[in-house]
Amino acid sequence: MYKIAVIPGDGIGKEVMEATLHVLEAVDVEFDYTFADAGDEYMEKTGVALPQETVEIVKASQACLFGAAGESAADVIVKLRQELELYANIRPAKSYPGTKCLFDNVDFVIVRENTEGLYIGLEEESEEGATALRVTTRKAAERICKYAFEYAKKTGRKKVTAVHKANVLKKTDGLFRETFYQVAKDYPDMELDDRYVDATAMFFITRPEMFDVIVTTNLFGDILSDEAAGLAGGLGLAPSANVGEKIGLFEPVHGSAPDHAGKGTANPSAMILSAVLMLDYLEENDAARKLENALVEVLAEGKAVTGDLGGNASTMEMAVEVRKKLEE
Ligand code: ATP
Ligand code: MG
Repeated sequence: MYKIAVIPGDGIGKEVMEATLHVLEAVDVEFDYTFADAGDEYMEKTGVALPQETVEIVKASQACLFGAAGESAADVIVKLRQELELYANIRPAKSYPGTKCLFDNVDFVIVRENTEGLYIGLEEESEEGATALRVTTRKAAERICKYAFEYAKKTGRKKVTAVHKANVLKKTDGLFRETFYQVAKDYPDMELDDRYVDATAMFFITRPEMFDVIVTTNLFGDILSDEAAGLAGGLGLAPSANVGEKIGLFEPVHGSAPDHAGKGTANPSAMILSAVLMLDYLEENDAARKLENALVEVLAEGKAVTGDLGGNASTMEMAVEVRKKLEE
């Protein structure tokens, strides 16, 4: 029995969460859910977007499923990331059959360092203009590289690629690359290589099949993740995980999508795939594969799918179909 915090949040967050919880009932794993508030709607009622009570509920759980927060998304997620020390951001990119992808052979995962790099917010103005500080610590580089190798091992992936710009950023990315190869020594069976970020951006759209697991620093990971989401079917299908030492938070890449909210037209796939990431995180890998395969069948059939995928099923109708496949 896993203790899971559930934050449906705003807009389609609530609808894709309801759909995902319906599907999870048919997975062979027991969950004990605690529902918690955060987001715009809660803020309108109370004046705060993320109440301390929610932080405590999440801290007392093994994992958190998060739907979406509207305007307050940055506040809510940034604060949760800090409070829970979620140092790794995981964004898989996979082309599923029956979806509009640029390529049908994309299947890789980006593991992004989420606590330092160029995003520590240390900027300074001067006479001439402004500067920003870019930080790489041994500790954080080692932690994220280790996470990437462990993730690759657990999920049966074959290769880990470090992405950097060590030819220009000799000290910071030099250290990142050096640390990557040091950590790699503990994983002799894993294939590995390293690439420059600019070349990687090009290879995503020329030879995406060359990537399996990518580990990279904060800014590069941010940009490459969005490129990867564009490669592989868009927002309705893109899941993500934020992982720390003690807890993982799993959320779709999309936001509250006010244009779909309340209509039952949102695609639940990104949230369902976020639950797949949660199952992998809990080392329920068999259940994760079963859930993913059930969704893949529904996508491939292309019948009970939402409007963005060319069908006319509602969010819940699509979820009911995924659950049926699970129960078959
Ligand atoms: P927010 O401020 O909460 O991020 P947003 O208006 O930026 O809201 P997003 O959720 O980021 O909206 O999504 C951008 C667009 O992508 C939406 O307008 C919607 O049309 C589409 N979209 C996003 N998620 C889905 C989904 N699950 N199903 C269908 N369409 C989606
Ligand atoms: Mg948005």
